[in-house]
Amino acid sequence: MADGQAQPDCLFCKIVAGEIPATVVRQTDLTFTFKDINPQAPVHDLIVPRAHYRNAAELAANAPELAAALLTEAAEVAKAVGIADGGYRIVFNTDAHAGQTVFHVHAHVLGGDFLSTFGT
Ligand code: ADP
Repeated sequence: MADGQAQPDCLFCKIVAGEIPATVVRQTDLTFTFKDINPQAPVHDLIVPRAHYRNAAELAANAPELAAALLTEAAEVAKAVGIADGGYRIVFNTDAHAGQTVFHVHAHVLGGDFLSTFGT
């Protein structure tokens, strides 16, 4: 049973803690949103829960209210960065076949133009 404890070697735990710099977009009590360092769209932000869960499945199984908060925050982020009207994509890459590289669950929020059908 995952408990959301910060992990010492986790990049996104370090960003949430302010130990590694990031361009912050929004913060709430439960979530932290920052710009992706390698954007795949005109707007590409990452929303993470402050608590550490390895992927969307682990988050949903252990903290469903936090999973809901992440989706609610995605809509708030989209409004805040000006992509709510045009439309946007929310992506959770989950483990190897999806190419997940950072194992702290994160929602990619992509928008700002028409997006290709596949990929982030
Ligand atoms: P992928 O790397 O295949 O997109 P993930 O879904 O795990 O897999 O996404 C990790 C994301 O984190 C990538 O989009 C990557 O550009 C981003 N990233 C990695 N390091 C940083 C960082 N220091 N600051 C902001 N974004 C980062």
